[in-house]
Amino acid sequence: MKILISDAFDPSLPAKLEAFGEVIDDKDRLPEVDVVLVRSKTKCTRDYIDRASNLRLIIRGGVGLDNIDVEYAQSKGIQVFNTAEASAVAVAELAFALMISVPTRMVDGHEGMKRREWLKKQLKRTELMGKTLGLVGAGNIGTELARRAIAFGMRVIAYDPLLKSHECVDLVSLEDFFAQSDYISLHVPLTDTTRGMFNADTIANLKDGVVIINTARGGCVVEEDVVAALKSGKVRAYATDVWSSDPPAEDCPLYDAPNAIMTPHLGASSSENMLRIGDVVVRILEDFQQQTA
Ligand code: NAD
Repeated sequence: MKILISDAFDPSLPAKLEAFGEVIDDKDRLPEVDVVLVRSKTKCTRDYIDRASNLRLIIRGGVGLDNIDVEYAQSKGIQVFNTAEASAVAVAELAFALMISVPTRMVDGHEGMKRREWLKKQLKRTELMGKTLGLVGAGNIGTELARRAIAFGMRVIAYDPLLKSHECVDLVSLEDFFAQSDYISLHVPLTDTTRGMFNADTIANLKDGVVIINTARGGCVVEEDVVAALKSGKVRAYATDVWSSDPPAEDCPLYDAPNAIMTPHLGASSSENMLRIGDVVVRILEDFQQQTA
């Protein structure tokens, strides 16, 4: 079996995969390989899949499959897997860090100190305790974030119409969700129903001064509308790890928006998570090898 590692995985992974066959990272050899490992960078489009004439398995190290034309791959008999649960803790920790950076004023305080400015009087703080966190999507990552928020004394509700019950959050209607959330954190895949879900119309229904945290996908919000809401103060802060493109365009309006807190798509990138993703990749390959033996 020939395995192409097309994106960045843990450096220990190639050695772990040698038991399965030849492991390469030369993307020009795509037509030869049986298995390709991708994260976000490689786009497995129709054209890509057509060029991979021997391909039998695509493994996406991560959660979303929006960089893979899954339907087309499957129509050609290619199996597609992700490492769904591995990244939940890493992303939830980043979402929590983005969330708590807002009431603690960490970013403004830090930037002031870098400018030698002592903003003790100017930076008014609040607390997370007693506030309502609304999750859009209460799957693996949403649930890990909920556990952490509950430990900090927050009430956690979720809008997730696909779930009937949940272990630790109250599932509510969209209307209640909009009316009650002080903090909103997005944990949904990018689909036709979630694309542009937070836009001028929906934002108008949110509480004044709401904080939005996005570690899901940039496309779940209309960035221009979020910027307008930041400027008007309707949204107190938008803390995001994700963008309409990676990296964002030079003229992305969020760069200069007030109270936009930004990280460069770091959600899944903890070293612990990269090891966990590698372990799941090995398990998928073991199953695949058994199946095809
Ligand atoms: P998951 O599948 O465990 O949970 C997603 C939840 O969203 C499910 O419970 C589902 O019912 C719900 N959902 C689907 N459509 C919905 C809708 N229209 N409205 C409300 N809820 C809806 O996925 P997860 O592991 O929690 O990951 C969530 C997303 O996080 C991924 O799809 C991916 O886009 C993103 N992600 C980002 C990073 C990062 O680096 N920032 C890393 C991993 C995942």
